[in-house]
Amino acid sequence: MKKIRAILISAVLLTAGMLPGCAGGSESSGGADNSSSEDSVVTSAPAVSGEQAAPTAEDTADAPEKEAATVSLPEITPINTEPDYEWDKVIALTFDDGPNTDTTNEVLDILEKHQVVASFFLIGNNINDESAESVKRAYALGCEINNHSRSHGYMNEMTAEDIKAEYDYVDEKVFELTGEHTKFFRPPYIAVSDEMWENIDVPFISGIGCNDWDEKVMVEKRVQMILKKAADGCIILMHDASGNHMTVEAIDQIIPELKAQGYRFVTVSGLFEEKGITPTSQMIYTNVTQESMWG
Ligand SMILES: [Zn+2]
Repeated sequence: MKKIRAILISAVLLTAGMLPGCAGGSESSGGADNSSSEDSVVTSAPAVSGEQAAPTAEDTADAPEKEAATVSLPEITPINTEPDYEWDKVIALTFDDGPNTDTTNEVLDILEKHQVVASFFLIGNNINDESAESVKRAYALGCEINNHSRSHGYMNEMTAEDIKAEYDYVDEKVFELTGEHTKFFRPPYIAVSDEMWENIDVPFISGIGCNDWDEKVMVEKRVQMILKKAADGCIILMHDASGNHMTVEAIDQIIPELKAQGYRFVTVSGLFEEKGITPTSQMIYTNVTQESMWG
């Protein structure tokens, strides 16, 4: 994955060099609250030829009739995911209900501080010009961008058509911003139906939580609940909803503690890869090694 992205960017820089003025200076970064150097790398995914990066089955299944995406990402150093400590377990941090310009960026600051990646499950209606910058920053850091529906309604009560529209809206927005499709879906309220299984093609993800949407659950309690339930192969489910500063504080404690316990942090995709497991439909993963629907 990392290799492919590197190839993408270099191939595109080449292309950009050959076509001076092509979008290079015209993309201004929305000027969120990120740091100073904000020159954009302009990428254009379809510029990559087949011989450099053979498309995977997933790419060919997802990409075909899409328009060429012009993606402008902030020029920042990706998180170094090579652990500098002893590890024998893997775990994935995930965040729901963003993106926004406050908490999402505070979470990213903590991830950078501890040099760990995470996965973000976005609500489509929260994506706007300003919050899109947080999404691009997360992606440029090496985080995975996934799908949490457009409106965060009870999709188990929706028709097939509405379910598809909920999923596709986020998928298309993320493709526009990053050049990649969303790979996993987290059902709002973890509510599912047969219609949802039939109309959403990517695996469903749940996770271990700590009720961090409830402001009566204080930082220490959040930390304790996650540490108590953490296990090899599991997905941690927290929320980067706007204003959820207690979760920012909680992960600043959770990450070093789990590192000390021998956990390495990966994306949700990385978790399946590390365990050699192919995700399947009709499963709601809290731990990628689980064998029954709900784990
Ligand atoms: Zn949610």
